[in-house]
Amino acid sequence: MIPINNSVIKKVFKKIREYQKIVVARHVGPDPDAIASTTALRDSIRLTFPEKKVVAVGLGVSKFKYYGILDKINPEEFEGCLLIVLDVPNLSRVDGIDGLNYQEIMKIDHHPAEDIKGPVDWTDETSCSTCQMIAELILKTPLKLDTKIAGNLYLGIVSDSDRFLLSYTTNKTFQIVHDLIKTSKIDFTSLYNYLYDRSLDEVRFQGYIAMNMKVTENGLGYIVIPSDIIKEYHVDLATPANLINSFNFIREVMVWTFITEDVKNKVYKVSMRSHGPIINSIASKYHGGGHKYASGARITSEEEIEQFIHDLDLLCLEYKRASISNI
Ligand code: AMP
Repeated sequence: MIPINNSVIKKVFKKIREYQKIVVARHVGPDPDAIASTTALRDSIRLTFPEKKVVAVGLGVSKFKYYGILDKINPEEFEGCLLIVLDVPNLSRVDGIDGLNYQEIMKIDHHPAEDIKGPVDWTDETSCSTCQMIAELILKTPLKLDTKIAGNLYLGIVSDSDRFLLSYTTNKTFQIVHDLIKTSKIDFTSLYNYLYDRSLDEVRFQGYIAMNMKVTENGLGYIVIPSDIIKEYHVDLATPANLINSFNFIREVMVWTFITEDVKNKVYKVSMRSHGPIINSIASKYHGGGHKYASGARITSEEEIEQFIHDLDLLCLEYKRASISNI
């Protein structure tokens, strides 16, 4: 059992206990960690405190419906609620809270802190996922767990840690996963289909990226994906970000980025990963943010794309030079 030594977890639980009306929200363009942490926390609070009115908001994503249906709310009914924000540090990227008049905001997140500040804030950049934090919260407090909640949390952890592969995976991750499986007795191998099922179109699209990604001398892999290609392969705008981790462990590539044209919103969606230099400062420069080695951004013009690629390539060059001079 994980020892209870973390006072912020107690504070989080106290806040949950204090409020009768609770809204749980996460970031726009959700991934499995964002969706699963939201529905798992909502369902655990409902199970523990059936008298409370608890909802999870944000736009539903049909391919993630396994994690649970999100709630449509009338903001007036939740006037004066506690807003719990998961997996996102900046208010502008919180989905589904328009018109909501909340009393207090409480954030639980594993991204570097940004503008969301509430009286209770649990930010843990050492956690591999927000689902790891929600699992820890449930395991250390009277919040209840059932098989469905545990399964959702397990998949969120597996997804965000890329199957325990990324450096954010720690012995604590394994400890929490151990306790989660032991407590809930989930048949975790049977869950993988919900995470890894994909279409042949998507596999072919991955082949397109592999064939067309350019790689610079300094180890930057990049590709600009026009909207026509998204249409041709029958994939969607979220697919490049879903595939980006598959391009890890390529010997010639140290930093890699997919820049996808989103015609409707007149913007290019950018996903970026690194196993060398820290990239989230470059993401911040281009209307984005994220983790040190996994970030996202938004680019609005072709000139900006050029500048962005130049900045990343320079970062790779500087990193290589620094590595050589440290030998
Ligand atoms: P993605 O490549 O979409 O999986 O995103 C990688 C990480 O960067 C995630 O933790 C996202 O929450 C974060 N991120 C993606 N896009 C943005 C953005 N426009 N602004 C801030 N953070 C972002």
